[in-house]
Amino acid sequence: IQMAARRGRPVRVLVDMDGVLADFEAGLLRGFRRSFPREPHVPLQERRGFLACEQYRALRPDLADKVASVYEAPGFFLDLEPIPGALEAMREMNDMQDTEVFICTSPLMKYDHCVHEKYRWVEKHLGPQFVERIILTRDKTVVLGDLLIDDKDTIQGQEETPSWEHILFTCCHNQHLALPPPRRRLLSWRDNWKEIIDSKRGALQRDRTGLGPPQE
Ligand SMILES: [Mg+2]
Repeated sequence: IQMAARRGRPVRVLVDMDGVLADFEAGLLRGFRRSFPREPHVPLQERRGFLACEQYRALRPDLADKVASVYEAPGFFLDLEPIPGALEAMREMNDMQDTEVFICTSPLMKYDHCVHEKYRWVEKHLGPQFVERIILTRDKTVVLGDLLIDDKDTIQGQEETPSWEHILFTCCHNQHLALPPPRRRLLSWRDNWKEIIDSKRGALQRDRTGLGPPQE
């Protein structure tokens, strides 16, 4: 108990789902080409901007609804492939000392299939112990955590100063963005996510002992 007290509280890591655990962009492109083989598409290396439907709208206005019909269809979320290394990283992270892992994901506003299939996806790929760790919210800024690993470049909501540090997970639509320091990226699950968690753990300990940089 004393050791635990000396170490302080665990690092809480919030991990986004689409684009970080589940390969939304690849699934969307595959589904779009299957459903609309005669329409133009945006190759993954040309994806720009978080919302695919906006880029398709810019390509041709009627394509926005077509691309949306793909991700709103039953089975879309359930059938997404895991991002390489994601499942192994989640299990390893969950087993790390003094580390709490949660899956923090925003469902579509058209939630009919999405919400149910996200739960099923987590159970299928990660098991029931991770179903207990799902946080579904449209506003991640109000969720308490130390790190949020997310592929969305700008995460805003009701809380102006979220408790977490946003780590941008590299995805086709954000790879070209230059992040202003001190913002950090995780290039893939092969990148050093453990170092990011450990650096946060070190910062928490310094804050607690008062040995860190002066606080305002
Ligand atoms: Mg995402």
